[in-house]
Parts: sequence; C-alpha cells; structure tokens
Amino acid sequence: MKKLHPIDVAGAVVTAALTGTTAASLVDHSVSTFVLLTVVLSMLSSGMTLTERVAKAATTELYRCSVEGCTVEIRATRNHAPERLAVLRDMATDHARHGSVAV
Ligand SMILES: [Zn+2]
Repeated sequence: MKKLHPIDVAGAVVTAALTGTTAASLVDHSVSTFVLLTVVLSMLSSGMTLTERVAKAATTELYRCSVEGCTVEIRATRNHAPERLAVLRDMATDHARHGSVAV
C-alpha cells in the first residue's frame, strides 16, 4: 500500500481549495454546469499530476556521472535499502563501470 507523504496531503488540500474557490467564482458568473464541471475536473487532474511530480522529486535520489559529456544518470526512490542506493550511486558515478558509453 502506498504510504501517504505529507506533500501528497498538502498538494491535495491546495488543489481542493483552489478548485473550490474557482468553482464558487464561476457559479457567481452563472457559467453553465458543463463548463463548470470541465474546469473543476481539469483543475483537479492537473493539481494531482503536479502533486505527484513534487512528491516524486522529493523522494527520489539522482546520481549522475561526473565525466564530461557522459549523460549516464540513475534515479532511485529513497525507499530502497541504503546498500542498494549505494550500489546504484557507485554505478552512476563511477564512469569505469558504465564506460562502454562513448564520451
Ligand atoms: Zn559516465
């Protein structure tokens, strides 16, 4: 089961508040239900996508090769064991271990 991250909660709260405010102001301007529904749904969906991205960035470790011109990078979520993260970091940062990539 997915653990709820504080960012997820904050993002959901902000998304719900913004969507609610927008919907309320649209109702004031007597916008049709269909338009209202479309706006609400698209706001909810982009809010959730944004939240997901932020949450992912906050829980992801990025390891890059430091050799100039080498584009090797490894992204790993932090819920891996430290030893596993260390292996991934070594693989990404030690150019000799992925040296077949042309520089
Ligand atoms: Zn490299």
